[in-house]
Amino acid sequence: MSPLLLTPGPLSTHPATRAAMDHDHGSRDPAFQAIDRACWAGIEAIVREEDPDGDWICVPVQGSGSFAVEAMLGGLARPDRPLLVLENGAYGERMARMRERAGRPLRRLRWSEEEAIDLAAVEAHLREEPGAGDVAVVHCETTTGRLNPLPALAALCSRHGRRLLVDSMSAFGALPLGAALPAIDAIAASANKCLEGVPGVAFVLVRRARLQSCEHRSPSLCLDLFDQWRRREADRQWRFTPPTHVIAALHTALALHRAEGGRAGRGARYAENARRLRQGMVELGFRPLLAEAEQAPIILTFQEPADPRWDFERVYALLVEHGFAIYPGKLTRRPSFRVGCIGQVGPADIDRFLLAMAAIRARLGFDPGATA
Ligand SMILES: *Cc1c(COP(=O)(O)O)cnc(C)c1O
Repeated sequence: MSPLLLTPGPLSTHPATRAAMDHDHGSRDPAFQAIDRACWAGIEAIVREEDPDGDWICVPVQGSGSFAVEAMLGGLARPDRPLLVLENGAYGERMARMRERAGRPLRRLRWSEEEAIDLAAVEAHLREEPGAGDVAVVHCETTTGRLNPLPALAALCSRHGRRLLVDSMSAFGALPLGAALPAIDAIAASANKCLEGVPGVAFVLVRRARLQSCEHRSPSLCLDLFDQWRRREADRQWRFTPPTHVIAALHTALALHRAEGGRAGRGARYAENARRLRQGMVELGFRPLLAEAEQAPIILTFQEPADPRWDFERVYALLVEHGFAIYPGKLTRRPSFRVGCIGQVGPADIDRFLLAMAAIRARLGFDPGATA
C-alpha cells in the first residue's frame, strides 16, 4: 500500500483517475481528440465561472507546472520592458530565474519567505517606473503555504496600467481568483495539484487578445504558447507528442472536480482539511509558521521542534508506517516541515494523521513546541 500523500504534488489521486490511464490512445484517434478538447474546455469553464464574459483560452503544455510558468513568462510577458517579479518564496524566485535565463529585462522585489508582500513597496516601485511591463506573482506560495494578496495587488496594477501574470499552480481549481481577475492576463497551473490529475501536463489560461498579440515572442521553440495554440486551432493536433495517458486521467479528474461542486466544493473540502490539521497540530503542541489569516488551505508549514528527540527522517519513516507521507520544509532560514491538505484527502484522513502524529510523539518523547 502506498502511503497517503500529504504533499504539494504529486498527490494522492482517485482510483478512477488512475484507471483512466489504462488505455493506449493514439494521438490522432477521434476518441482521444474528444477527450483532449473536453479537458481544456473544462478548464476554461472553471475560470469563466468567475468571469462569464472573459474570452479565455487554455493552452496546454507538456511537462510539469514549471514548464507552463516558463511558457507564460517567455511567451506572453512583454520582452522589451522590465518584468516585475514579486518574490516571497522559492516559486517567485524561480520566475525571476526564468526571466534571467531568457535574457530579458527584470526587476525583482523580494521579501523573506516568512514575510508578506509589502503593498506600499510595490506601489512605490510602480510609481517610480511608469514605463515598465507586466507584473508576475505567485498566488499561493507553496514554499510556506502563504496566500499572497492578489486582489490588492490587482488593484495596484490596474491603477498603474499594468497587467498581472499569475502562477496559480497550487491554488487553481480550489481557490478563487476573485477581485484580482480583471487585472489578470494569464494564469499558469497544472493537472496534478488542486485538479487532482496525475503529473505530466500543465497549462496557461490566457485572454485571447493577449495571446493573439504574442506571435514570435517566445524565446523557446518547445514552450511557444502561441505556436501551440495555432497548431491546435488549425488541425486539433498537439505540436509534438501529447501525454495521452495523463490527459485521459485529467479528463476523469475534471469530471470528479465538477461532481464535487467545482472550485467551491473542492475549496471547501481543502479548507476543512486545513482547519482540522492546524487545530489538531496546535493541540499536539506544534507551532505553525504562519498566522491563520495569511495561510492558504493548501499546505501548512510547521516549525521543527528544537528537541534532540525530534528527528525528521525518523518521524517521516514512522509516519509512512502509519500510511502517510509528509514533506520536508523549504525555508532557507528555519528548520520546518510541511503537511499538505490537497489531493484525495478528506477530514477523516486528517484525523487519522493526527492520531498517528500523537502516537509518534508519545513514542519518541519530543516536545513539539520546543524552541531553540
Ligand atoms: C508546484 C508548483 C509549481 C510547479 O512545480 P513543478 O515541480 O514544476 O510541477 C510552480 N509554482 C508553484 C507555486 C507550485 O506550487
